[in-house]
Amino acid sequence: MLKNYIITNIGQLMGILPKETLLLKGEEMGHINVLHNAFIEVEDRKIKSFGLMENCPETESHLVNIHGDWLIPGFVDSHTHMVFANSRHNEYVMRLQGKTYEDIAAEGGGILNSAKKLQSMDEDTLYKKAHKFAEEAIAGGTLALEIKSGYGLSVESELKMLRVVKRLKNDLPISIKATFLGAHAFPSEFKSNHQGYIDLIIKEMLPSIANEQLADYIDVFCDKGFFSVDETSQILSAAAAFGLQPKIHGNELGLTGGVQTAVDNNALSVDHLEHISDVEINYLLNSNTMPVILPGSSFFLKIPYAPGRSMIDAGLPVCIASDFNPGSSPHHNLWFTWSLACLYNGLLPAEAFNALTINGAYALGLSNSHGSITEGKKACFISTRPFESINEIPYWFAQNHAKKVWY
Ligand SMILES: [Zn+2]
Repeated sequence: MLKNYIITNIGQLMGILPKETLLLKGEEMGHINVLHNAFIEVEDRKIKSFGLMENCPETESHLVNIHGDWLIPGFVDSHTHMVFANSRHNEYVMRLQGKTYEDIAAEGGGILNSAKKLQSMDEDTLYKKAHKFAEEAIAGGTLALEIKSGYGLSVESELKMLRVVKRLKNDLPISIKATFLGAHAFPSEFKSNHQGYIDLIIKEMLPSIANEQLADYIDVFCDKGFFSVDETSQILSAAAAFGLQPKIHGNELGLTGGVQTAVDNNALSVDHLEHISDVEINYLLNSNTMPVILPGSSFFLKIPYAPGRSMIDAGLPVCIASDFNPGSSPHHNLWFTWSLACLYNGLLPAEAFNALTINGAYALGLSNSHGSITEGKKACFISTRPFESINEIPYWFAQNHAKKVWY
């Protein structure tokens, strides 16, 4: 990809924001700043300037005429489990035959099944599989990405997963953040000795991860049947000593205190939120924690959708992400996520656009470099064909509208 160029004849340049805007909330989420018939100048892979075509600078720079196509900021997928060994299509069939996700987990399926498969797979094979998924996601317009561990559940295998993520960071042309999710589930040998596993996370996993600088964030599955509020807090305080800010899995399976625990521990985001009441919404309103909703897993598991509409109406910011993983959301198509968020979480198309771009960037600590058309930010864009309106994009559901990606 070129380092210096000017894209010309942009039909609509969308998602323009001032430098100081790090997220959008409430009513602000319904607005998108647009320029018609525009150019954008890129220098050293960063946005140098943009404006109307009549003001396009005359330079020796390489010109790329996109003939009226639209240009939007690259999507930020702030929640994925992209490193895994195998699909779980057998469990998919079990669910089609009537079993629930929780029944399957109780029978040794679910996360523990993924962990068993991952523990016996070598690092190179895992890397190749994840690399292929990441390339597909990039082609779809995902131009910044979070990847969690959490299918290792042993010191050796959690480190193996995070080393795979580190290699992806080095080898792929987009920004990637690594999140340590050793507290994804209790391994069966610790089923009746929770403290034993928590000690393993705190005393062995965290120091080794910090030593190799393998993680940017810490995550805990704080929910019914997984980690309690007290167990979560214990892990988060230990991680804070290593400088790891939390991004929490919370309120997927019930009103279990995940939101409050996330906010109390200064989490960057709290993700899932299928079960949320006014109490949690008010708690979030007084915080810097981004609520992230994951319509792909609601769709695939046939569980309730997070009430995105009520959250925005209450004045909250909302972010959406794919939750790409083999058990509950085997897709990384953010165009489809966009449509689902509109149809089932109650977002309007413009709100979902902001949820995927600037708010996605916030949920990954990347608002200063990603998520909008802003001078000085990284030049990562998606061009699409021209539409009649932004509302038409999620209407054409389950399609990849990225004509070209720029990074
Ligand atoms: Zn997840």
